[in-house]
Amino acid sequence: MFSDWKKKRLLEKLQEECFHDYHTIHSYKVEIGYYSSNVVTRYDMYCPICDKTIYGIDEVSKTRHLERQKVRKTYKESY
Ligand SMILES: [Zn+2]
Repeated sequence: MFSDWKKKRLLEKLQEECFHDYHTIHSYKVEIGYYSSNVVTRYDMYCPICDKTIYGIDEVSKTRHLERQKVRKTYKESY
């Protein structure tokens, strides 16, 4: 879907720009698909330093984002 693709691109752009720690500020259920009633959880994440919010990312993106933060932190600490 086009809007999903657009959202993903936007998300990738934001992730490139901001390297701070994001916090999950909101989670909500979203229904996807016309024929099946799939319900997924979406998350809004917030960077307090940039005052930037990422809206409506899915579980996978959220986990990946948080994992990346963790790795980044570990990497920095090893110096
Ligand atoms: Zn930031």
